[in-house]
Amino acid sequence: MGFFQDMVAVFKKRALVFLEYSKESKDVYTFVFEKGDDWTWKAGQHGLLTVTHKKIKTPTKPFTLASSPSENVVKITTSITDNPSDFKKALLELKPGTKMTIAGPLGSFNLTDNKPTLLIAGGIGITPFRSILKQNEAEGNRVTEQIHLLYMDSNKTYLFKDELDAIANVTVTYLDSRDDLHWETEKFASSYKDNGNYFIAGPKAMVDSISTLLKNNNIPKRNIKKDAFYGY
Ligand SMILES: Cc1cc2nc3c(=O)[nH]c(=O)nc-3n(C[C@H](O)[C@H](O)[C@H](O)COP(=O)(O)OP(=O)(O)OC[C@H]3O[C@@H](n4cnc5c(N)ncnc54)[C@H](O)[C@@H]3O)c2cc1C
Repeated sequence: MGFFQDMVAVFKKRALVFLEYSKESKDVYTFVFEKGDDWTWKAGQHGLLTVTHKKIKTPTKPFTLASSPSENVVKITTSITDNPSDFKKALLELKPGTKMTIAGPLGSFNLTDNKPTLLIAGGIGITPFRSILKQNEAEGNRVTEQIHLLYMDSNKTYLFKDELDAIANVTVTYLDSRDDLHWETEKFASSYKDNGNYFIAGPKAMVDSISTLLKNNNIPKRNIKKDAFYGY
């Protein structure tokens, strides 16, 4: 998706009917909505989710579509701590049948090439990779080159661990220290150099620092895709 497709997609709002939510960990919830037959997305994209069942100050925020299109539901996974924002409070108040709206899909954080690929997730930044890996599996592992996921979480709260471990053709390394994350990133970069593709998702500070690390290891900008979660 290019800039102009995103500009058009931003204005395409559609209703999302809430089905249920479940807890992934102490502070992380997955909200599930009907997908509808007339809408889809590419694994890794996000949408602009709007609260419509009550008036709040900031009713619209971007969220990755954590489900793959093949799962046929829309899943949004987010952390909600003890002192939630009004937006997150509104999510917890959803009842089956309540409607939100979503604009999009947006972004180009997608697997397109059949190249050795390093996916680097920081915390909640695992959401686009869940979608990407589930979709690749549903398509019979379209990307046949090696895919290595580095999943960094200093609290060791690895979301979707059982699902990730069950996906064939993907190596997952769970990490809880920045030094180890840097070491693993540099190891892949020195093996595959600019023959590899590099995807980074998570809090903006983490995305920026790993992107700089890759560039310092002579990985060209064009091989690096970033999904920075502003707001963390
Ligand atoms: C491309 C993209 C994809 C993204 N994908 C995801 C995703 O998949 N999952 C995800 O979780 N996030 C994602 N984000 C980030 C998301 O849009 C939010 O910024 C983030 O979830 C924080 O939301 P919030 O409502 O808690 O934030 P804020 O409003 O910034 O609140 C942060 C904290 O401030 C305090 N606070 C704020 N308002 C109040 C209030 N009224 N009362 C009391 N305390 C308050 C609370 O402690 C709250 O937890 C993505 C962002 C981008 C740009």
